[in-house]
Amino acid sequence: MRFDVITLFPELIEPYLSVGVVRRAFTGAVQVRLWPLRDFADGHYRRVDDRPFGGGPGMVMLAEPLYRCWQAIRLDRGLPACRPPGAAVDVPTVLFSPAGERLSHDVVARYAQPAAPGAILLCGRYEGVDQRFVDACVDAQISLGDFVLSGGEIAAVALLDAVARLQPGVLGDQASAEQDSFNPVVDGLLDCPHYTRPEVWQGPAGPMTVPPVLLSGHHAQIEAWRRAQRVQATARWRPDVLARARAEGRLRPADEQ
Ligand code: SAM
Repeated sequence: MRFDVITLFPELIEPYLSVGVVRRAFTGAVQVRLWPLRDFADGHYRRVDDRPFGGGPGMVMLAEPLYRCWQAIRLDRGLPACRPPGAAVDVPTVLFSPAGERLSHDVVARYAQPAAPGAILLCGRYEGVDQRFVDACVDAQISLGDFVLSGGEIAAVALLDAVARLQPGVLGDQASAEQDSFNPVVDGLLDCPHYTRPEVWQGPAGPMTVPPVLLSGHHAQIEAWRRAQRVQATARWRPDVLARARAEGRLRPADEQ
């Protein structure tokens, strides 16, 4: 799959693509191309923004450089430069925005499908994007949450990282991603607590041990313990997630005891 990212600050995204376990995805299954918006702007100053009609603070991203960049991406993907109004979405264009659908495992999983085409990702800046470009070219909006960032780059990196983690072979052990919080393999529950050596750690209030079951070597009991911990953590930190799992029939009889 391929993601094309329209951004004024490619240097914010670039380093992220070459570090850590997910870099394996970005040299393989998940192609990412960064498109510096200023390359598509006019004039000596390569202007990409202007003052808002109607007055008020801040600047608004110009529709025309965005449209030129968007068309260049589509041509580069072998698609027609323009998509007639009402035509089926070939490659979705996604704007990061506080108005968007909240980024979640379900959203990530949709973009991470091996057969999915990826997307054209638009990182907004300033007060946002001229609405006419949004109306004409944007298919979906994604939000990181109910707060305001200075730009969409952090949201783009969040989506790309989460999509990369779900690609087969990217994490050293395939089970890693499947055992992560929200994964359907663990019925969408939160992760269980993890422990590593030493068996006794001298904490601030004295020695702290590891739950004995984890040292027992008894795989079925360890799995049962981990499942119970997942349910407990979800009940404590995200009762909404537990309620959804219950409503969708993903809880087992033992989870309810
Ligand atoms: N005026 C906008 C508003 O109040 O909703 C905020 C603009 S913000 C300073 C600039 C850009 O950052 C946005 O166009 C968007 O691309 C990105 N952004 C800000 N908050 C975001 C969020 N919660 N999720 C995703 N992107 C966000």
